[in-house]
Amino acid sequence: MAYYAATVSKLIEEFQKMPGIGNKTAQRLAFYVLGLSKENADNLVSAISEAKEKVGYCKECCNLTDSEVCDVCSDLHRDKSVICVTESPADVVAFERTKEFKGVYHVLHGAISPMDGIKPEDLKIKELISRVAKGDVKEVILATDTDVEGEATGMYIGRLLEPFGVKITRLAKGIPIGGDIEYADEITLTKALENRVDLF
Ligand SMILES: [Zn+2]
Repeated sequence: MAYYAATVSKLIEEFQKMPGIGNKTAQRLAFYVLGLSKENADNLVSAISEAKEKVGYCKECCNLTDSEVCDVCSDLHRDKSVICVTESPADVVAFERTKEFKGVYHVLHGAISPMDGIKPEDLKIKELISRVAKGDVKEVILATDTDVEGEATGMYIGRLLEPFGVKITRLAKGIPIGGDIEYADEITLTKALENRVDLF
């Protein structure tokens, strides 16, 4: 890395901290940024700082939002007695694209993964428990991914919710094993939702 000017190295290092970005891609991104016009570079910087400043967690579902409560939670036509629990905001987008789900969501922001040091307390699990504890929820659909971490997270949450006596369901098989909800097509996702099964 000593072959680059210090400021270039610093930029590459910052990109390398991003998920899924290795050294080569980090270099490519740095060169891309350095090749931008002043105006486009400023746009990029202000998009980052504006998002950091304005975007936070919805106080009900923990999805990302730039208002206190997200669009889904503030929509009076949504059924708040059914909560679909997802790992990421991208999964919510996937479900919204199906236009079939009329309930609300809860975004965990990850899955339990001892290998990556992600513990239950790192996720928005206690926020979900308090929502259910309020007593208006009839069903919780565990729509975590179908990989090992997603299955384990779903099971962990299912056990925690069991004492509340709510219906706890899991998406029907159909999402490929090890698959990301985010990448499932609309028909698969609609079917998986329609044919959801009781967890216990
Ligand atoms: Zn919300």
